[in-house]
Amino acid sequence: MISKEQNIAVLGAGESGVGAAILAKVKGHKVFVSSLNAIDINHKKSLVENQIEFEEGGHSMEVLKQYDIVVKSPGIPSNAKIVLELIEVGAEIISEIELGFRYSKGRIIAITGSNGKTTTSLLTHQLLKRAGMNVGLAGNIGSSYALQVAYDDKDWYVLEISSFQLDDMVHFSPHIAIVTNITPDHLDRYEYSLDKYADSKLSIVKNMTPQDYLIYNLDDEISLAAMERINIKSKLIPFSLIQKVEEGAYMENQIITLTINKGKMGIEELALQGKHNACNSMAAGLAAKLLSIRKEVIRDSLADFETIEHRLEPVLEVFGIEFINDSKATNVNSTFYALESMKRPTIWIAGGVDKGNDYSQLQSLVKSHVKAIVCLGKDNDKIIQEFANSVDMIVETQSMADAVNMAYSLGEKGDAVLLSPACASFDLFENYEDRGRQFKERVRSL
Ligand code: ADP
Repeated sequence: MISKEQNIAVLGAGESGVGAAILAKVKGHKVFVSSLNAIDINHKKSLVENQIEFEEGGHSMEVLKQYDIVVKSPGIPSNAKIVLELIEVGAEIISEIELGFRYSKGRIIAITGSNGKTTTSLLTHQLLKRAGMNVGLAGNIGSSYALQVAYDDKDWYVLEISSFQLDDMVHFSPHIAIVTNITPDHLDRYEYSLDKYADSKLSIVKNMTPQDYLIYNLDDEISLAAMERINIKSKLIPFSLIQKVEEGAYMENQIITLTINKGKMGIEELALQGKHNACNSMAAGLAAKLLSIRKEVIRDSLADFETIEHRLEPVLEVFGIEFINDSKATNVNSTFYALESMKRPTIWIAGGVDKGNDYSQLQSLVKSHVKAIVCLGKDNDKIIQEFANSVDMIVETQSMADAVNMAYSLGEKGDAVLLSPACASFDLFENYEDRGRQFKERVRSL
C-alpha cells in the first residue's frame, strides 16, 4: 500500500499533521511539512527534534510538487487551491488516519455520526480497556493516531472520525464501524446537500467485508436512507430506542438489552443519563459484545462511567438551583436531547453563532421544560423571534458573567440552569471548551 521510496508531504501542522509527519519519518520516508499559518511552538519543537523539514506562513508549490503522497489535515477543504494543484500534478491526497492505517497492525473500531461521537468513543474505549485489551483512543480525541502507530502501535484502536476525515480515506477499513446518527451539520462543506453529507459519513463502510460489522441507529431515517443508497457488505447491527431488534440492542421500559451472541443483558443503571446517551451506551455495548467482552464488564463500565466535561456535565447546586454545562451542544439536535433529559423547570442559556439553525424543532420541548431563556450571543434575533411567545421571559446577555447572574436571579429552588447553546461559540468565546469553562467558573463564584 505504501513504499519507502514515496515522499510524503503534510499540509497543516496541528496535532494530526505533526503526528503524520513523525510516523512518515519513523518509517523512513522523505518528509516535508507545509503550514499556511504560523506553527505552534510545541509542534515546531517536535518537528525540529525529529529532524523534519517544514515551512510556515504559506505553501510552496515548487517544493510540494516533488512529493508523491500528501497528508491533508482535516481542517483544509478538499477544494482548497493548493490541494487542487497537488492533485493536478499527480499527488495522492490522504488523511492522517489513512496514513496511520497503512502502517498499523491494530484493528479498528471507528465511530462517526453527527452527535455522540466523543461520548461513544470514550465509552467504547473504556469498555475495551476494562476488558484488559491493548487499546488506543485517537481521531478527534486523545493524541494523534499516526503518532501512536509510530511509537507504540496497539492491538486495537477506538477512532473518533469526522466526515472531513472520511473524505480522504482510501484503504481505511475498520472491523467495527458505528454511525451514531446523521443530522444536518457542516452542510457548507457538502454543497448544502444533506445526501452528500450523509453519504460521506456512510463512506466509512466502503472497504468493510462480510467479517466486519456496522452498528447503526435504526431510529434515524437519514442514516437508513443513506444506507439504502450504497452496497454494504458488512453485517448490520442495529440499535433502537423504539423497537425490539433480533440481533442488536434496544430499549424497553428504561432498560437496554443487548442481544448479540445469543446473550441477553439488561442494563438498568446507565451512568450517562438521557435518551441520547442510552443510544451511545447501546452502540458502545454492542461493539464490546461483538468482541466477546464479558457482560459483567460491559454492565459495570456502562454503569460507573464518569460524566464527560461540557456534555450535560453537572456543575454545582447553588441554593437548590442545579447548574448543568452542555457547552458542547453546538447544534439544535444536541440541544434537543439536552432539553429532553431535563427533569426540573429549566432556565436555558442559548445562542452564539448559528449555522442555519431551525429552532422550530425545539418548540414543544421549550414549552414543556423551559421557564426562561437567557440568550448569550452577539445576534439573538432568531431565538427571540422563535420563542418569544413560548416562555415567560427572554433576556439578552453578551457575556458569561451576565448570563450566569441573570439565570441565577431568575431561578428558584428546584430549578435547573442549562447551558446548551445549540450554536457555535466563536462570537464571544475561543471555542466551546472556553465557553464551558467560563460557565463553570462563574457558577462556582456565585
Ligand atoms: P460529538 O463528538 O459527535 O460532537 P459528543 O459526544 O461530544 O458528540 O456530544 C456533543 C453534544 O451532543 C453534547 O451536547 C451531547 O449532550 C449531545 N449528544 C451526545 N450524544 C448524542 C446523540 N447520540 N444524539 C444526539 N445528541 C447527542
